[in-house]
Formats: sequence, C-alpha cells, structure tokens
Amino acid sequence: MGTRHTRAYTDLREQLRDWWARTNAPCWLCGQPIDYDAPAHDPAALDLDHAKPIETHPHLALDSSNCRPSHCRCNRSRGSRAPRPEMGMVTEDW
Ligand SMILES: [Zn+2]
Repeated sequence: MGTRHTRAYTDLREQLRDWWARTNAPCWLCGQPIDYDAPAHDPAALDLDHAKPIETHPHLALDSSNCRPSHCRCNRSRGSRAPRPEMGMVTEDW
C-alpha cells in the first residue's frame, strides 16, 4: 500500500510530467493533446496512468516504461482495471 505516495514515485512522476510536457505527449487513451498547464484536477490535465495497473502489477509502479500520459478524465473513466467487456454492446437479436 501507499506506492503512489513514496518519494520515489513523486520524483518519477515529476520527471515524466516534465518530459511529456516538453514533447507534448498526447493522452494514450484517447489520443488527444493534454493541457499541461491545466490545474491538477482539471479533466483535461495530465494524470499519470499505468499501462499495467498497479493493483495487479505493483512491481511496475515505478517502472517508467509502464507509465503513460493520460487525461484526468480518461484515467478516471478507465479506472484501475482493464477495460471491461461491454455487456450491452452485442445487440444482434432485435
Ligand atoms: Zn484522453
């Protein structure tokens, strides 16, 4: 527990934020540009996401190759799980 609040994690996040802002990295979930000047909890602001969720891959929390830039809103709607299968999407019988 608490991986997100360690000093190492904060440092890594700052480094990546710096790098992504400089290279103007887009959101890896929706492909749209991220507003790197937006306030921290703005839906369009940067949120550090993990390609493999920390919950299932805690050892990758501090692995920069597992980190991806995402929008606050995209990361939040994705949650910590992999995208769940959309049960209602298959509508063949109508
Ligand atoms: Zn996005």
